[in-house]
This record gives sequence, structure tokens and C-alpha cells, in this order.
Amino acid sequence: MEKYDVIIVGGGASGLMCAITTKAKKVLLLDASDRLGKKILVTGNGKCNITNDSIATNYYNDDKVSEYFAKFNNLQTIKLFENIGLFTYSDEEGRRYPVSNSANSVLDIILAKLRDKDNVQVMTSCNIQSINKSKGVFQLKTDKGELLADKVVLATGGNSATKYLENLGMKYVGFTPSLMGLKTTKNKGLAGVRVSNVKVSFNEFEEVGEVLFKEDGVSGIVIFNLSASLARNGIRQGRIFLDFLPNMPLNTLKSALKASIEGNSNYSPIEILEGLLHKSLAKNILDTLGIKNLKDFDLNNVANLIKQYPVNFVGYSDNNQVHSGGVDLKDLDNNLQSKDVANLYVIGELVNVDGVCGGYNLQWAWTSGHIVGEAL
Ligand SMILES: Cc1cc2nc3c(=O)[nH]c(=O)nc-3n(C[C@H](O)[C@H](O)[C@H](O)COP(=O)(O)OP(=O)(O)OC[C@H]3O[C@@H](n4cnc5c(N)ncnc54)[C@H](O)[C@@H]3O)c2cc1C
Repeated sequence: MEKYDVIIVGGGASGLMCAITTKAKKVLLLDASDRLGKKILVTGNGKCNITNDSIATNYYNDDKVSEYFAKFNNLQTIKLFENIGLFTYSDEEGRRYPVSNSANSVLDIILAKLRDKDNVQVMTSCNIQSINKSKGVFQLKTDKGELLADKVVLATGGNSATKYLENLGMKYVGFTPSLMGLKTTKNKGLAGVRVSNVKVSFNEFEEVGEVLFKEDGVSGIVIFNLSASLARNGIRQGRIFLDFLPNMPLNTLKSALKASIEGNSNYSPIEILEGLLHKSLAKNILDTLGIKNLKDFDLNNVANLIKQYPVNFVGYSDNNQVHSGGVDLKDLDNNLQSKDVANLYVIGELVNVDGVCGGYNLQWAWTSGHIVGEAL
């Protein structure tokens, strides 16, 4: 039975960062998949939004993350990547990408660094049946035999390690999908329509961004961010409101419509609206209000609907980017070691830390992986 100083379970973003950081002597990085870091390749639409130039706690579900960013933050991450040969740039919203614009570069450079480390062995396609601890030693039963370790780092991402947490007697918050589109009732005539600069509101949530309509759903970064707040609060249905002209106050819009109707009395209703809105949206608004000609055109109703367009959401779409839930920071020490099980560390998405879109989730994976890598 092979014994290691450390076994890192999961070779995604956080496990890889932990592996390239640790100086522990005999480390095993194991992954159930046939290749390490597969998910990194699909991040940021294949470009990998590695981090963000501005990291604040309000982008996350738990303010306590600031204590961990005080140890390893976004600027240190950018520097670390530079030191290992990966160069990055940021877009106008502060999102950092590799200069190659390819997630492959991020994974390739991490794997190059990993090959450079003679203290870390890698085992892929290894499925774990159970993890137990007895007399201070962890026993991992796997389909490749039994493994022993003094320390274990759980880095399995969201939702897939619940049975190990339970085996080990760890507390955790149940997982729910987060950062995804929303399923809605039918959006008549709007499938495929992309509208930028829309203010999306739901309870306390208010954010401006691009909304992409689907036949029976809405998507886009602002919707993903809304979904994070819905997921954290367990809200699966309700009504969101869209303001299609957030820069135009209601009264200004009414005056503009009035002037347009008075000055262009031969226009059809759609011609009155198409200088303000995407044509399909204009048509949808007129159909919703049953307006067929200019004499039916009630500018109060039209303006109100443009500024407060209701969308009924009835669930989450299936393609979530992260999970909310996991082991709470309050149950982990400042090195992310369990307060209940000594020498057990939890990193990445398996910790109950989730951020909005913009590089914040990978940043948490890098931060948590690096902190534990140094602590081992
Ligand atoms: C489509 C998509 C796009 C995204 N884009 C971005 C983005 O641009 N920027 C951003 O910040 N975040 C993005 N994210 C989120 C980001 O990818 C995750 O937050 C991050 O990968 C979490 O890292 P992790 O190490 O915790 O888990 P993961 O990267 O999920 O890695 C977990 C690893 O553990 C392995 N594993 C799981 N269970 C076991 C087991 N039982 N035994 C052994 N191994 C196991 C898996 O095979 C995997 O390799 C995106 C996510 C998705 C799905």
C-alpha cells in the first residue's frame, strides 16, 4: 500500500494550483478523469477568464473571502502566472485573459510547471470509492488500489465529493447550480434576440448588461449573475423586470414617443418604436399590448412596458458554470484546513464560496489552491 505525505483529490484549477505550489515531499495528484484540468479549457468561452483586475468581497457570497485574498490575491496570481511563463491582458471591464486568448495556454503552462516538480506524481482515471481516517492516517479506497496519506486536499469541484465529506463527518451546505441561464415562459418572437444595455431587476438585484432571449429562456452575463443571487436564496421561480432603455427616464421616453407620433403621423406603430428598440422587441411589445395602428398607441402603456418588461422565470437552465454550497469558511481555518478533521484541506468550488461572472470563480480556485499548497 503506497503512502504519501499528501494526496490532492481532483486536478482541476484549484488542485493544479495546489500541486504546483506545494513543497511537500511526496505528493500524489489524482483525478477521476483521464486528463487533468479539462474544465479550464471550456472557461471564458475557450479564452479562460483567469481573474479580474478588481476583486471585492461583494462579488462573492461570503465576505470572509477577503481574509484569504489578503494572503493571495489577483495581482499575485497574475504575477505567479507571469513567472511561470503565462502572460495576460485585461479587457475594458477588467477581465483578465491570456494574451493568446486561448484557455489551452493556461492549462499547458500549468502542466509544464507540474512536469517540472519532482515531488508530485500524477494519477488519472482513478475513481475513489471512499475516504476514511484512522489513527491519524487517511485511507483512500480507489479502483486502482488502496492509498494512504498523512494529509488530504479535497479539490473535486462542486457537488461530486459529498459522500467523502459525509464519510469524514464534515459539515457542508447543500449544493445548488449557479451562474446559468433561466428558463422562462415563452418569449414570443424573441428567440435569438440579443439586447445590450438592459437593466435587469429582481428584489434587491439590479444590474445592467446584455440579455439573450431564447425560445423559453434568457441568458447572458447579467442573467448568470442574477442566477447566483437566486441560487443562494433558493429561489426557483418568480418575475424579473427588464428596462430596455435604462439611460432614458420614463418621462423623457414618454415625451420622445409623443413627439415622434406628432411629428410622424403617417408612421406605423412599429416605425415609431424601431428607432428606440430592436425590431423584434418592438413587435413583441406592440403585440403584447394589442396595438395594430397609431390610434391604438397608448404611449403610457408602451413606455411602461419598455421600462418594466416582465419576464416569468420558471427554473434554471441546465448548463451551470459553478455550484453554490460546500464547506463553509467558518468550518475551515485560515489555511483552509478543516476545524473538525485535522490535516484535511478543502479548496476550490467545494468550499462554500461562489462568485459572479468575471474571473472571480477561477480566482477563488487559484487563491485557495495556493494557500493550501503553501501550508502543506
Ligand atoms: C462552461 C464554464 C465556463 C466557465 N468560465 C469561467 C471563467 O471564464 N472564469 C471563471 O473564473 N470561472 C469560470 N468557470 C468556473 C470555473 O471553471 C470553476 O470555478 C473552477 O474550475 C473550479 O475549480 P475546482 O478546482 O474547484 O474544480 P474543477 O475545475 O471542477 O476540478 C475538479 C476536478 O476534480 C476531479 N474530480 C471530481 N470528482 C472526483 C473524484 N471523486 N475523484 C477524483 N477526482 C475527481 C474532476 O475530474 C476535475 O478535474 C466556468 C465554468 C464552466 C463550466
